[in-house]
Amino acid sequence: MTSQDVTLHHAEWGSWKERLGTIPILFSAPHNAEQVRDGLPKAAEPGSLDLAIELARLFDASAIGTIPPLHSDPNWDADHPYVIRAKELLPHGFALDLHMMRDRGFPACIGTGTHPELVEGIWQSLESNLENVGLETSVGWPFGAGPQTVTSNLQSAGIKALQLELTPTCFDVKSEAYKKVREALEKFTRAVINGSLL
Ligand SMILES: [Zn+2]
Repeated sequence: MTSQDVTLHHAEWGSWKERLGTIPILFSAPHNAEQVRDGLPKAAEPGSLDLAIELARLFDASAIGTIPPLHSDPNWDADHPYVIRAKELLPHGFALDLHMMRDRGFPACIGTGTHPELVEGIWQSLESNLENVGLETSVGWPFGAGPQTVTSNLQSAGIKALQLELTPTCFDVKSEAYKKVREALEKFTRAVINGSLL
């Protein structure tokens, strides 16, 4: 996966990969590596960074995501350097923060964060693009993207950010669900670019 456009970085808090694009859109995967939340290990969300990078390459957008070892939780710890770096990659624009959730009978959940007014119109586009390919999508439950999340922290900086939780099969490149996710997110991103956002 690593090639010239994706760079590898290491810090005390953990390691990550990033890609700097030319348009103000960022795909983020803070839980791609097993993370440490309040001192306890929490399962990795494999495939989330691969998807973030693939989408970023498609549109020459930016991407960031963790790789092992990760000693902290960017989606939980206050003022996490991951969030600071994400803001440097995307000073303004739109960010999609990708996560994996267990299957509760629907494959996708959109979190609109603590500043949903910033993403009004955008989350509806994401929802309809997912539903259009047959992926049933919940909004705000079970994950609304609370104040400690990457999504809400980016929103606090004025960035239009959304959280998208997907079931494990959605990140399996061999699955039908992955193909649907890929198609939905490509169409959604195109809609964001073609809209008045950028
Ligand atoms: Zn997560």
